[in-house]
Amino acid sequence: MAPRPDEDVFNQSPPFADVNLFTSDIALGEAVAREGAAWARRELDAFGALAGSATALDLGRLANEHPPRLRNFDPQGRRIDRVEFHPAYHDVMAISAAQGLHCSSFEHLLTGERAKAGVHVARCAGSYMGAQMEPGHCCPITMTHAAVATLRHQPGLARQWLPKILVRDYDPSPRPAEAKRAVTFGMGMTERQGGTDVRANTTSAEPIDGGGPGKAYRITGHKWFLSAPMSDAFLVLAQAKGGLSCFLVPRLRPDGALNGLRLLRLKDKLGNRSNASSEVEFDGAEGVLVGEDGRGIATIIDMVTFTRLDCAISSAGLMRQALARAVHHAWYRSVFQKRLIDQPLMAQVLADMALDAEAATALAFRLARAFDGGDDASEAAYRRLMTPVTKYWLCKTAPALVGEAMECMGGNGYVEEGGFPLLYREVPVNAIWEGSGNVMCLDVLRVIEKEPEAVERVVSELEDASRGEARLESAVEAVRALLSECARDQRAARSLVEQLAVLAGGTLLLRHAPQAVSDAFLATRLAGRWHSTYGAGSIRSDTGAILARAAPSLC
Ligand SMILES: Cc1cc2nc3c(=O)[nH]c(=O)nc-3n(C[C@H](O)[C@H](O)[C@H](O)COP(=O)(O)OP(=O)(O)OC[C@H]3O[C@@H](n4cnc5c(N)ncnc54)[C@H](O)[C@@H]3O)c2cc1C
Repeated sequence: MAPRPDEDVFNQSPPFADVNLFTSDIALGEAVAREGAAWARRELDAFGALAGSATALDLGRLANEHPPRLRNFDPQGRRIDRVEFHPAYHDVMAISAAQGLHCSSFEHLLTGERAKAGVHVARCAGSYMGAQMEPGHCCPITMTHAAVATLRHQPGLARQWLPKILVRDYDPSPRPAEAKRAVTFGMGMTERQGGTDVRANTTSAEPIDGGGPGKAYRITGHKWFLSAPMSDAFLVLAQAKGGLSCFLVPRLRPDGALNGLRLLRLKDKLGNRSNASSEVEFDGAEGVLVGEDGRGIATIIDMVTFTRLDCAISSAGLMRQALARAVHHAWYRSVFQKRLIDQPLMAQVLADMALDAEAATALAFRLARAFDGGDDASEAAYRRLMTPVTKYWLCKTAPALVGEAMECMGGNGYVEEGGFPLLYREVPVNAIWEGSGNVMCLDVLRVIEKEPEAVERVVSELEDASRGEARLESAVEAVRALLSECARDQRAARSLVEQLAVLAGGTLLLRHAPQAVSDAFLATRLAGRWHSTYGAGSIRSDTGAILARAAPSLC
């Protein structure tokens, strides 16, 4: 008798679905509580169940299998420049918007109250899980959230736009912002001739009626990358009389006509498939100057700083997702009569990855707390120095970890329907956009030169946290030596940034993680030779204890 199909399938792991992304992630729950958002636990628990549900993960799959398409014309030949998305994309956007991932940390601005302590940490916890549900849509969610920081430079514009940003709703209808209850924002900086070097921008802005902050201009030029082109408005850099300036450019005019924004084509990208990224031309688009004429970089940098935080958060989330899937697979899959998780060499590889994933989570949420820190000098210094450091290290570590985790899945890891190819294609983009690796390092050098007191404050605090732990103490010495070296030679910057990240991660794990985790991290990342591939370090650690902590709830 032929076997029934289901009986024929054995020694395969059960589907990775219906995992509560919050309660199954011990390191996340602890980080959220210690960094000031314990009050959000119940809400995050509910969101974790939703974001990790089979339904939501399937929406993520669909949104990527059916990428957006550009439609420039209607059937009669009229220009419409619309992007069509699969309904699943709108569904994941609506899920994240209902959770307030685009606005929750700024909601107090509408009431004029003080921000509740931990609002950024709570929002970041949601974003960390939202990225695991579907990473591509995090781009417009992040940009909408971050735009608030720049809009605050122009109180009149803030009054006009914030009530439609700070609402836990999503309205993708192609109507002018004036007619909508909720809006999203994009960002236009990168041009063909320069992305990092935005001073090379050639897009120009002419005042319509005298010009000045809050006044109207006509924008003419192009952008080589403009993600989420269906956003309701964009913060755009263009050359005005005083130099590079920041403008708010709505996509549609109040009467619903296109605002001179022509979508030329969508990028055919390695990953990030659910998210549309376009090339655009501005043909006399009307925009309003945000902040001072000629102060465009200083104005938009507040937005960029928040998107850098989100790159770090998203990278930590994707590392967690890859690790959880790999541990889950190894838990159920047997090879040579023994479960993979019990094979010493596999346990070593998985445990080694778990160390980076946990350090990434700890660093990401420590940084999020600094964003809750307001004017506090220590938190401001941490924010300034450790935003580029954390973005650098997490975004650089994530692709290697996701690649290794994919290999732990064997052939299933390489097959689209298992979900790993989506993660693998997505993960490198966080290192590229919002300031690539070298740009993060150059930013750290800028802090060293312009704000040495901020550097000293952070390093002194790391020094205090290291006292009594020889491996951390020698890492502090290495950081101090690299700080001097960087002053003479910028080529040392990557070493410095990596050393700072690992030192900060090590101090957090020493204080807050179980000894099995912190000991193994310090032994393999700070003492002796740095391992070159996962599992290759001289790890003599309690891999069982590390993996018991890292395992998702299905195991
Ligand atoms: C999927 C995707 C979506 C995007 N969406 C947007 C968007 O919505 N809006 C937007 O404005 N941009 C967007 N970008 C553009 C992105 O921000 C830029 O690609 C990025 O900032 C790098 O700029 P660039 O491509 O011009 O590369 P370049 O600036 O030419 O940099 C190339 C390389 O040189 C390095 N480098 C630069 N300067 C130095 C230096 N002084 N010393 C050493 N190394 C250096 C960089 O680190 C990088 O590795 C998007 C990009 C991608 C891939």
